[in-house]
Amino acid sequence: MRTLILTITFLFLMTKIFGQTQEPKLKISHLTGDFYIYTTYNTYEGNQIPANGIYLLTNNGVVLFDTPWDTTQFQPLLDSIKLKHNKNVTICIATHWHSDRTEGLEYYKKQGIKTYTTKQTDDLSKKNDKKRAEYLIEKDTVFNVGQYSFETYYPGQGHTEDNIVIWFDKEKILYGGCLIKGADAENLGYLGDGNVFEYETTLKNVQKKYTNPKFIIVSHHDWNNINSLKHSIKLARKLKKKNRIEKSSR
Ligand SMILES: [Zn+2]
Repeated sequence: MRTLILTITFLFLMTKIFGQTQEPKLKISHLTGDFYIYTTYNTYEGNQIPANGIYLLTNNGVVLFDTPWDTTQFQPLLDSIKLKHNKNVTICIATHWHSDRTEGLEYYKKQGIKTYTTKQTDDLSKKNDKKRAEYLIEKDTVFNVGQYSFETYYPGQGHTEDNIVIWFDKEKILYGGCLIKGADAENLGYLGDGNVFEYETTLKNVQKKYTNPKFIIVSHHDWNNINSLKHSIKLARKLKKKNRIEKSSR
């Protein structure tokens, strides 16, 4: 009997340990067509936080939007893409200066990948000692890569001073990065580098410009709910109101 209990305990522990080591550090999900979402994780204030980016398969290599947050996953992401699609990443564009978007830029540059940020992002990366891209975008830019086309858009300050979004017009995919939060988000997340007064206007600029997105991809939440932008605007409106009241009562 004792042996049986010990065996069961042992098996239970093994399953637990095995189960833990099996928890993936990198997740890849199919979005639609040639679009995929990759997720890595990092710890923020004691919580495990997911960070999503996307990649797009083209006839001219793979375009990576943002880099993994987890520094151990730069190469595994390239390897997974190669294994899954037999293609190499050729371009990487980061959407603002925070580490969850830019951490892999220098590593990818060393692998021969053309890395991009806006000039504004580069200035902030330099100032804040973050990884920097090789090529700079001076203004909103249309990229044509293989059979695909997409544009970068700077809507104003929000999550950070420099946050941009990416729009795939043909596919109606809006890549919102950290500017847009999930439809269930309780708040707009870390605002230490943000602009609480401009945030609402900035989000509305995105909404006005891209009126009919089929998908809205966000950095730290589930992307399956298209109400994320609307919900973020609501949060930003509340935030502005609250800060106005605080400001005027000072
Ligand atoms: Zn972020």
